[in-house]
Amino acid sequence: MDDCVAKTTGVSLMTGSSPVMGKALLDTIDVIGFDADDTLWENAVYFLAVEKAFCTVMAPYLTSESVRSLLYKVEERNMPWYGYGVMAYTLSLVEAAIEGSNGQIPAADIHRLLELGRGMLQQPVALLPGVLTVLPQVAAMKRLVVVTKGDLLDQERKLKASGLLPYFHHIEIVTEKKVSNYRRLLETLSIRPEAFLMVGNSLRSDILPVLSLGGHAIHIPQPGVWAHEQADIPASDYVTLASMADLPATLGME
Ligand SMILES: [Mg+2]
Repeated sequence: MDDCVAKTTGVSLMTGSSPVMGKALLDTIDVIGFDADDTLWENAVYFLAVEKAFCTVMAPYLTSESVRSLLYKVEERNMPWYGYGVMAYTLSLVEAAIEGSNGQIPAADIHRLLELGRGMLQQPVALLPGVLTVLPQVAAMKRLVVVTKGDLLDQERKLKASGLLPYFHHIEIVTEKKVSNYRRLLETLSIRPEAFLMVGNSLRSDILPVLSLGGHAIHIPQPGVWAHEQADIPASDYVTLASMADLPATLGME
């Protein structure tokens, strides 16, 4: 996890070669895709809390700064093998604990880390501000889909617990949010990229691949964004909102 990223304030409405927004966008799109973690509901806060507890467990061996940097390194190393989600994160915690303690970490502390991981899988689903009012509004006008990555079982649990399933036409849970997966999704939905709008908190996973396909994207940043989810995209290529509550106005619906 990276340091907190400040929320933007206000809505950027672009014209000309910049993103199409307002009623013009609403008339163009057929489907709106929503990221789930940190877009529809809280997620990063749970990782940050566990990271803090992990630093406490590792305090006899390393400073908090060294623990964070080691964990990030181990996560990156494991990503091609384990993918994303709580289970991958838990395995990385254990591996980083063994590595960071030079094999001295007691079994009781490893048990504590496994408990922290399991606790994340049992967290209640806390919807982000505006989600509960905005989704019915946009669902009445457009087909909505969820595009998310992570542990299949955990994502299914959260979707069910969220109470939001009735608003979605299709759920796509992928191992990685890359261009080829978005292209396949658009084929499944039988739509052109220009008819697709993606809404999400991650520049790398939600915004960049959709823009590169020729689709539209709205970024809603959340504090505590994972460092792995950063990307270098010109800010003029997409619109940034402070909250989901701003979405209907941005689409010219109000
Ligand atoms: Mg997300």
